[in-house]
Amino acid sequence: MVTSALSPLDTTLTNALGGRTAQALRRAFGHETVGDLLTHYPRRYARRGELTALSELAIGESVTIVAEILDVRERTMRARRGSILEVRISDGQGILTLTFFNQAWRAKDLAPGVRGIFAGKVGDYRGNRQLAHPDYELFEAGDERAAEAGDVTAQKWAKQPIPIYPASASVASWQVAKSIEVALDTLPPLPDSVPESVRRELQLMPLREAFEKIHRPETDRDHLQARDTLKFDEAFVLQAALLQQRAALRHAAATSRRSSRGGLLETFDADLPFSLTGDQALVGDEIARDLAADIPMNRLVQGEVGSGKTLVALRAMLAVAESGGQSALLAPTEVLAAQHLRSIVRTLGPDLAARLRPVLLTGQMPLAERRRATLAIVSGQAHIVVGTHALISDNVEFYDLGLIVVDEQHRFGVEQREALRRKGAVPPHVLVLTATPIPRTVAMTVFGDLDISTIAELPKGRQPIESFVVPLVDRPGWISRVWERSAEEIARGRQVFVVCPAIDAATVETADPPDDVAEGAAGDDGEGSGERAAAAHPIASVEDVLASLRAAPALGGRRIEPLHGRMPSAEKDAVMQEFARGEIDVLVATTVIEVGVDVPNASTMVVLDAERFGVSQLHQLRGRVGRGGHPGLCLLVTSSEEGSLARQRVDAVASTTDGFELAQIDLDLRREGDVLGSVQSGGRSSLRLLRVAHDGDVIALAREHAAEVLEADPALESHPALAAALDRRLDEASRTFLAKN
Ligand code: ADP
Ligand code: MG
Repeated sequence: MVTSALSPLDTTLTNALGGRTAQALRRAFGHETVGDLLTHYPRRYARRGELTALSELAIGESVTIVAEILDVRERTMRARRGSILEVRISDGQGILTLTFFNQAWRAKDLAPGVRGIFAGKVGDYRGNRQLAHPDYELFEAGDERAAEAGDVTAQKWAKQPIPIYPASASVASWQVAKSIEVALDTLPPLPDSVPESVRRELQLMPLREAFEKIHRPETDRDHLQARDTLKFDEAFVLQAALLQQRAALRHAAATSRRSSRGGLLETFDADLPFSLTGDQALVGDEIARDLAADIPMNRLVQGEVGSGKTLVALRAMLAVAESGGQSALLAPTEVLAAQHLRSIVRTLGPDLAARLRPVLLTGQMPLAERRRATLAIVSGQAHIVVGTHALISDNVEFYDLGLIVVDEQHRFGVEQREALRRKGAVPPHVLVLTATPIPRTVAMTVFGDLDISTIAELPKGRQPIESFVVPLVDRPGWISRVWERSAEEIARGRQVFVVCPAIDAATVETADPPDDVAEGAAGDDGEGSGERAAAAHPIASVEDVLASLRAAPALGGRRIEPLHGRMPSAEKDAVMQEFARGEIDVLVATTVIEVGVDVPNASTMVVLDAERFGVSQLHQLRGRVGRGGHPGLCLLVTSSEEGSLARQRVDAVASTTDGFELAQIDLDLRREGDVLGSVQSGGRSSLRLLRVAHDGDVIALAREHAAEVLEADPALESHPALAAALDRRLDEASRTFLAKN
């Protein structure tokens, strides 16, 4: 790898702007370097407006006027300390007063007879129109051409877009603008990450020019073109980074794991009580090919809830075990890890289970048990290890880690995958399972380093799920119908999940930060009114709902139990097992049941305050029912207003059970920034302009060009600027990993 030359963008703001300004920008926006500041892009552009005649001024309008100063007067204010500078200007047709508070020094420039352009918002003071603190630019006195040139300059000035920056309470937009001006004025030429040939082909600007034009545009065309360039630059560097990471992995040596005739996998397949679906077989072949290779597999398997991904993973583990290798299955929660272990033991059957010795390792296990487990892992006796984050901890050592399976990737960041990967003496193969379908552009952006397999087909005999929105704002009475309907299902021998966003009135337990939910609540564009109305009523909590359902006549005599993250793990496990055996009728739970819980007899999913969950969470929750021979029913209870963003999410989930369609809707409903989730965590996201939801074309184009560049010059010897940009964005975890290999 080429070592990075320091780019001018890495210059500290302290060096570029001085300590005080640097500190203000750091506090307000977290900026450290010139690059941080220059990528603080305008939120929008304002305009001074077309030139207005003084005779046509309307109160409240933003105007730009070319006029001559008539007279200037300073007076002290009576009510409070300070002075007012009053400047009267005229364009020959009308007269207008400009006012400045405590800025008497301006009188030095604003002299009678001087002409200039004045811009501001027309106010009204005791019946007189005036501009308070206008922007202005004065024509040079004595310049004969001033009058004539003045008009041309004025036209241009009036049309020039004025950048408006995201501001903070302590640093205003114009202060950002000023700092950026200084940074741009002193900015040396910049190396371009995008090679010149690519820039020419795509008609992009050099980076230096793009920064100039997005911050100091003369026309709208300027900043629009600059934006295209900067957006491509982001996409290009990101794709190059992902491709390079992937290439590095391809160079790493892995242990080839091949299953053979009469081996464990064949024995297992022969005893399966059902046949694999077509997709399961296809994906199984892809995985087998990867495992047999001597470079590490790095594959994402995406498939609908209940499509049988765990089985696909288990078959991979068996292939690895044939050569004595171990597999680690990483689950997002204790409940899910325990359930995975049980179902793996059951699926393997007594003979295979005895040979493979699957063990559980979680943080909440008693010490003695934990010690037994770690011993079985380090000695290599346990060929399958199921666990939570605890598996990543330092004192867990493997004898021969051959395969890592990460279930439900959205809970594990890239860093955690890397940490676990480092547990193998030789880089292990990695399989990531997700039931959250990933739109192509996101997959390319976030998981550009992974190969992707898709299981679209569901096992035969899956039952359809009917979904309904129960809108309590319009129909508060319908909640009792929800419990009657649940009682009917129980009367038929079925079971019911009731999911709440909170444990008790004080504790909201949303396992995932519901990013799109938090965002909806912030509602800065007026869409949030529905969310705010919803927030006014108390959030449904496991404790309250449990109490009220136990008292509900419709559910009289039924067994209703709670399940949430604050219960001790043994208790959680006991409740889950009783529910699985059908001894509990209604489980009132938080999202601890979101993923993987498999109770075929459960037919009904009631989600309370459904608007508080994200689209994919709701889809996951719904996937808990309709798994046995019984049709599923999903009731999404919400207090959000019809048409609000929150309600649109709930409506979307009710409208389709197609996870891919939902993923796209979800993406469309989200605003930018949160799509990348944890991948971009641990620092300011490096993506400023690129919108994963909308810039699929740019991303694909950038990937093509990045691939070409890397193919011709893998070490980037003739692309030092790109190499430097990549170095800058590689996160610590993967850097350590790459260095080790
Ligand atoms: P996922 O993890 O994709 O949500 P699972 O692997 O948990 O799905 O599978 C859900 C259920 O379907 C399990 O009970 C599993 O045993 C069963 N199953 C898996 N593959 C098949 C198949 N080909 N035919 C019938 N049932 C299957
Ligand atoms: Mg699963």
